[in-house]
Amino acid sequence: MRLINQTCLVTGSSSGIGKAIARKMAMEGANVIINYYSDKTSAEELAHDLEEISVDNEMMVVKGDVSKQKDVDNIFRKTIDKFGALDILVSNSGIQIDAPSHELTLEQWNRVIDVNLTGQFLCAQAAIKCFLHQGIRPNISKAMGKIIHMSSVHEIIPWAGHLNYASSKGGLLMLMKSLALEYGKDKIRVNSIAPGAIQTAINEEVWSSKKGMENLLKLIPYGRIGQVEDVANAAAWLASDESDYVTGTTIFVDGGMSCYPGFLDNG
Ligand code: NAD
Repeated sequence: MRLINQTCLVTGSSSGIGKAIARKMAMEGANVIINYYSDKTSAEELAHDLEEISVDNEMMVVKGDVSKQKDVDNIFRKTIDKFGALDILVSNSGIQIDAPSHELTLEQWNRVIDVNLTGQFLCAQAAIKCFLHQGIRPNISKAMGKIIHMSSVHEIIPWAGHLNYASSKGGLLMLMKSLALEYGKDKIRVNSIAPGAIQTAINEEVWSSKKGMENLLKLIPYGRIGQVEDVANAAAWLASDESDYVTGTTIFVDGGMSCYPGFLDNG
């Protein structure tokens, strides 16, 4: 229970990694805002489940597209109206639209950049405004606020056929570091989590076939696909005061995928 009396917004939390993070934050005692893009039923079911395991903390479900300024404004306004303050933003929403780079349309490029990079900017900016307005909340957290961006190993590993996705996550690396630099003096901590292969809907095409899973495991020194809880545990630590001296960095939760597994033998 490291997050009692704190409020945490998790974007894109009606599924996958975001859903596990919302669950973990609620188990740690936080009020949780479950943002969803399209799956209202799943978001409401999650809120209902989490209310059951919560003690004094409360859940709220808010629809919104993180790439749209007015939707982001609405998510944050509803958060402050209900809970009075925001302590943690987990900016998790992300999409993949894949195509060979010479066939990638401008629309496909823009949509991924809009959600994965501009969405991260809009949510981080809105969170920072809340943090600066509130100031440090004594006895709640040592930090004025915490932002956790959901990046990917592809913030450093190039990815053929996924130009828009890899570019969005590469851009996110500098977004995270620049914000950490700018707002460190205010005691706002900004970090990223870079998952490797985590078993969710976004990569089902890969892990759902035997061949796909075999190929994937060749890229993971630790020998297993990641689970959503692996990422949620790292997020809870980054949100808590246990990581109070950690800002401007990326935590890789990837089973060693970023350790150049192609060089396991003679190369
Ligand atoms: P997912 O598809 O289950 O989750 C993505 C979530 O983002 C969904 O809930 C979706 O509704 C939401 N979303 C999409 N567009 C949105 C928008 N415009 N506004 C608000 N929400 C929107 O997949 P996931 O694997 O849980 O992905 C979560 C994050 O983790 C993404 O940022 C993804 O890039 C990152 N990631 C995942 C993996 C993996 O292996 N699963 C690896 C690296 C990074």
